[in-house]
Amino acid sequence: MSDHFEKVKIQLQQIKASREAVETEAAAEEEQLSPASVSPVTADVSFADRKSGGRSRSKTRSKADGQTQQVSDLIKPDPLGLCRVCNEPDLQIIGTGRILRGNTATNGHVESCQTQRDGKCERHGKEDGSKVAKKRRPVTVDISKAKTSLVALKLSIRQLKWKEFPMGRRTACDIYWHGVSFHDNENIVSGQVNKFPGMIEMLRKINLSRAVRTMQELFPEEYNFYPRSWILPEEYQLFSTQIRLLKDNDSTLKPTFIVKPDSGSQGDGIYLIRDPADLRVISGSQIKQAVVQEYIQKPLLIDKLKFDIRLYVLVRSLEPLEVYIAKEGLSRFCTEPYQEPCQKNLSHVFMHLTNYSLNVHSGNFVHSDSCSTGSKRTFSSVLYRLASKGLDIKKVWSDVIALVIKTVIALVPELKVYYQADIPPGKPGPSCFQILGFDILLMKNLKPVLLEVNANPSMRIEHEQEVSPGVFEYVPSPVDEEVKVGVIRDTLRLMDPARRKQHVMTNTGGSSSEEAIVVKAETLDKEGLADSLPSLCLKEVFPKYTKQFNYLRVVERIAGIFLRFLGVKGTMRLGPTSFRTFIRNCKLSNSSFSMASVDILYIDITRRWAGMLPESREAGMCLQAFIEAFFYLAARRYKDLPLREQVLSMLEVCEGSLEGQGHEKPRPHRSHTNTIPTSAHSSAPTTLNSPALTRRHKDHRQHQTLQPSAKGNTDN
Ligand code: ADP
Repeated sequence: MSDHFEKVKIQLQQIKASREAVETEAAAEEEQLSPASVSPVTADVSFADRKSGGRSRSKTRSKADGQTQQVSDLIKPDPLGLCRVCNEPDLQIIGTGRILRGNTATNGHVESCQTQRDGKCERHGKEDGSKVAKKRRPVTVDISKAKTSLVALKLSIRQLKWKEFPMGRRTACDIYWHGVSFHDNENIVSGQVNKFPGMIEMLRKINLSRAVRTMQELFPEEYNFYPRSWILPEEYQLFSTQIRLLKDNDSTLKPTFIVKPDSGSQGDGIYLIRDPADLRVISGSQIKQAVVQEYIQKPLLIDKLKFDIRLYVLVRSLEPLEVYIAKEGLSRFCTEPYQEPCQKNLSHVFMHLTNYSLNVHSGNFVHSDSCSTGSKRTFSSVLYRLASKGLDIKKVWSDVIALVIKTVIALVPELKVYYQADIPPGKPGPSCFQILGFDILLMKNLKPVLLEVNANPSMRIEHEQEVSPGVFEYVPSPVDEEVKVGVIRDTLRLMDPARRKQHVMTNTGGSSSEEAIVVKAETLDKEGLADSLPSLCLKEVFPKYTKQFNYLRVVERIAGIFLRFLGVKGTMRLGPTSFRTFIRNCKLSNSSFSMASVDILYIDITRRWAGMLPESREAGMCLQAFIEAFFYLAARRYKDLPLREQVLSMLEVCEGSLEGQGHEKPRPHRSHTNTIPTSAHSSAPTTLNSPALTRRHKDHRQHQTLQPSAKGNTDN
């Protein structure tokens, strides 16, 4: 009897405790759900300022008459049943996210369901998916730092029926949406953040050029989608000499170069030159930190205008590498007919630069509600035009996918170093994902060229318009909304913690990550349909195409070794002792390469890189310097092999040695092989005109001359 009484008492206590827990959770949520947090658009993100007088360039405006345009206004279904954006008969272009008649648009409004009220489609009488779907706790998103992506983000969250926290939340959120960097909110210890540490730094023009260049040294043919570039001021002499030689050899050559300030964006500070002597100098004789790049003289034109493509790419995870590409992108058009560069037209920015931020100030800029006309169009409408001329758009699309994957592969090694510095393994921290903006130019022969990658692509879906002289207002931009809301919403869908959990479970369930992800993607698509959401507008490209691209992940393996020897968490530089330990553990020193030589190599390379990275406060050997040392050691050891084979052979030696010493060999990528595809074999291992190679060859000579004196050094 007393036993029974005890049991009942415990049960009652348990029920009470669980009820209290639920109530506390609910109270915490309530606390954050102030009326402001649930209103679709708060005053600070209203688009229109239609009655505001006078010119104000403030980015956040509220309506003068106090009426706030509701987000729902922006997703009004078109009464004619046509896509509100396109207003034209639809055509599907395979491989893009083009909207199909009667299907769902990439931004999520259902075109065939013209009247939707209260979650019900009146025509079909079908319940909105959210009511059909299993009820579960809504995903929570901290949007307090979303900045200019706020409007598109709120629309996306609304479509997903998730919960937003505009002022942040005392308890943890599932997802944190930052407008600028990983550090916008400090001290996040769980959940997921939409920025990677170090992404901004990696995508500055100089660092991107360096990362791609390292890959060009190993895989010149695979990475020829990036124009030849020189880093200023350090390579000014090299640039001058190479151009002089080029012109001396062929006096008919009239190359043009584009100079881009390192930290510039939106076309700021960019100019064209035809001779190194035309480089602008700042204070005294200093040349600003910049990249000078071969100018692509024959771009593909539409309506006689130069244009570029903005594609949105989601890096969903670094380990394992997961990359998605948005099936729809934007094409930004110049506003002055294109002519090949000549001395007279070099300064015509509306002819040569496709930046929206510049061209919008041209009198010729056309704001259009259609996605296939105007100065900003959808990428699919451009593909449609090309297809109608009989051009092979399938090839364009697959070349673009290859360019994206290869670029991400070039960025990953250094991103991993940044990642471990901010979120060391074992320390509680969030996981990261990020939407990147790839700017791509199509050449006349349809070959895509990478111009740059933006860490913070604009996610604005409104634009500023002069409604009467001197009076500006923010008005919705249908083309931007069409593309960007889909990208944000589907990024969120892919980052849904429930799906991530399912993904992890699938992965640990014995199947390979590639297979698991393919299965998961299919499930997601089906789930999307069940939710009345359109199928994902983000297409998985990695690990889907692992087999085709994994052989390129050589530098990542070098970064893996670098990370093992970094030692102290939070650092990104290798100290001299760690470098020695690396040499010792990998058994790289011998009678002809003493530890004294190792020290000299370390000092020499580290010092030079410190000169090239003047802003860095941390001392020691950075990853790029380590890669240079690794290449040097490989070249020394395997003199007769081409560079790529040298490096691969060295990797085998190092990874083999570390494995033997209890260091875990990096998990081999499933289809990783050192066998290079036939096309890659045919490529020359070096190009004579690569500035990087000239630098490294020069360096090798330097180290070799250092060698004899090093022998006399007894420091061991
Ligand atoms: P920003 O970050 O300032 O926009 P970009 O590298 O994107 O710098 O260059 C701005 C614009 O200049 C591009 O949108 C493109 O129109 C043009 N551009 C850039 N690089 C080249 C190039 N190598 N050849 C031809 N045009 C280029």
